[in-house]
Amino acid sequence: MITPINSFDQIEIIPESLVVFDIDDTLIRFDGIDLKWWKNKIKKYMVMTRDEQLAESMANSDLIKIMNTCDPELVDNQVHNFITRLQESNCHIILLTARDENIRELTIRHLQSVNLNFEHIYFNQNKGDELKKIVSEQYQNISNIIMIDDMMANLEDIKQKFSDSNYTVKLYNIR
Ligand SMILES: [Mg+2]
Repeated sequence: MITPINSFDQIEIIPESLVVFDIDDTLIRFDGIDLKWWKNKIKKYMVMTRDEQLAESMANSDLIKIMNTCDPELVDNQVHNFITRLQESNCHIILLTARDENIRELTIRHLQSVNLNFEHIYFNQNKGDELKKIVSEQYQNISNIIMIDDMMANLEDIKQKFSDSNYTVKLYNIR
């Protein structure tokens, strides 16, 4: 089941869970940058180039420019509280982002700028496959997974990839 939320406070903490956060538009966001921004950029560059791949790479370079020069803000001011509560409940916390691994350092800087420090950050666009791999390699002893992501497609992917597993998977769509 995928539960829509607009604050981390709405998540039921199950002790000793593996908690998986997406980064962009889940933990942090950049002012004015959202799906609409992205679609408008693509539209504009498609008109210019008539080449989907080129348009996407031009939009991406605009995005990287913004990410390099702007500081992000928190999506939910309750996040530090929530993380403390997760730690008190002996949860394991990891981040799973579709960002490219070549901006790992920048990503860590973005998180640190809003006082978020995480040891385990994974970069993969195929979140279902990646999470399966992470769990089977490092978290065989857990039974609950809590995943928070703003993109329904990622949550659907996790749901499908874990449909035949023994884990209890709770999915939250933050918006
Ligand atoms: Mg996101």
